[in-house]
Amino acid sequence: MSEKLFKSTRGNQKPLNFYEAILQGIANDGGLLVPDFNVDQKDLNALLNMNYVDMATEIISTFTPNDVKEDIRGLCQSAYGNGLFPESVVPVEKAGDVYIAELFQGPTAAFKDMALSLLPYFMTFSLKKRGEKREVMILAATSGDTGKAALEGFKDVEGTCIKVFYPVDGVSPIQKQQMITQTGKNVDIIGIHGNFDDAQSAVKVAFNSDELKELCLEHNVFLSSANSINIGRLIPQIVYYFYSYLTLVKTNEIKMGEAVNFTIPSGNFGNCLAGYFAKLMGLPVKKFIVASNKNNILTDFFNTGEYNANREFYKTNAPAMDILVSSNLERLVYILCQDSAKVKTFMDQLNETGIYKVDEDLYNTVKDNFKAGWLTEEKVLAAVKNCYEETGYLLDTHTAIGYGVYKEYQDESQDETKTIILSTASPYKFPESVLEALTGETLNEFDAIDALHEKTNVVVPTPLQGIKDREILHKKVIDKADIIQFIGEQIKEM
Ligand SMILES: *Cc1c(COP(=O)(O)O)cnc(C)c1O
Repeated sequence: MSEKLFKSTRGNQKPLNFYEAILQGIANDGGLLVPDFNVDQKDLNALLNMNYVDMATEIISTFTPNDVKEDIRGLCQSAYGNGLFPESVVPVEKAGDVYIAELFQGPTAAFKDMALSLLPYFMTFSLKKRGEKREVMILAATSGDTGKAALEGFKDVEGTCIKVFYPVDGVSPIQKQQMITQTGKNVDIIGIHGNFDDAQSAVKVAFNSDELKELCLEHNVFLSSANSINIGRLIPQIVYYFYSYLTLVKTNEIKMGEAVNFTIPSGNFGNCLAGYFAKLMGLPVKKFIVASNKNNILTDFFNTGEYNANREFYKTNAPAMDILVSSNLERLVYILCQDSAKVKTFMDQLNETGIYKVDEDLYNTVKDNFKAGWLTEEKVLAAVKNCYEETGYLLDTHTAIGYGVYKEYQDESQDETKTIILSTASPYKFPESVLEALTGETLNEFDAIDALHEKTNVVVPTPLQGIKDREILHKKVIDKADIIQFIGEQIKEM
């Protein structure tokens, strides 16, 4: 087989191998990297009885050079098999007539751990394979959960340092506390006056800044990304689609080969896109149901084919989904049309006017695979309450959006396909809203953890225990306009 290469959605980047793709993070023409090869169809029967590490090895090595499969197994073992996750890694629970795949059992209690526990190992492995002597500076923009998961993944990893930018008023108090109390010699956490989109676009600009490129050269540094613009974030996320499906086969909830739906609480669209990859690799999926909050740009896209970013940005009770620029949609559009000139035109239109609309053919494929809906904040709280009262299962606000949107879809469509909802966070990551949903009571987030535990007896994840009392180590806050300059200064210090 010829070498597996990754190319840019916008067509103007020399194709890169796996290691180069991981280290570079984003294409140098501003596009995103996608596989330049047909992904293998996986044999579901062969995967059926594998544990998470072995299944991850099979799926992930689809994207890596053929001769490193056993190395990949070692990396997966370090990420998922070393006690940071429970034995099953992704438990699948039943709540009424839906299944909940718990992606939040890792070190930071949110689904970002699924990929960010592995990405640092991909990076160090790639550095070694490339004989790279430069230091990597990881830049991450976060709406709250990526930041902490990336920090946990990269802290004290040799050859790397990490800078996390978060909207100072746009993350929950628990998310903020998790980040600003982060330990590690190579970590930096910076609040910005601005929202997630501002942070993400500044980071994208940084990658393409000539000034920073020059500084990097002088100081023997290169920049990479821990956001889901890095293909190394996406690949590990394909695994749990197979794993949760096969868990249902093993427990006789579905028959092998039976199609299921997945419902995905979405923001930057990385999670859902990984599911589409799983489908391309042979997983029987009928519909992906894309769930959003009041920042419902994805709902409108899937319902009309038009992506229109000219709209107000709302801060909601599901802050990890408060996003108007869903980067990974660019990858989906590319994969569906396989035409980088067209993608580039769309993205230029998006930059210039804030809008693009895909053509009829492309939109028809989109409609065949994806459904979408959104919930108001009141409905989010109602979904938490209804699910808890009707099934006894406690959802966080993001997953509740998946639940509520799915219930509306089920009513409208009469689709009886079994459905897996991906749970993206522990309810204790957003306890204030969850408690309010159940009792109408509003407490500060830290007290809400205790109150919620008292009321529901659901176990508080270890990473969130005692979080209130940790020492604050990071207090820096800068203006969004100063991010590039800040990064420049940091490079000079290396
Ligand atoms: C990041 C995040 C999402 C959105 O996931 P995307 O891959 O960006 O679509 C949803 N819920 C939670 C809790 C998250 O942290």
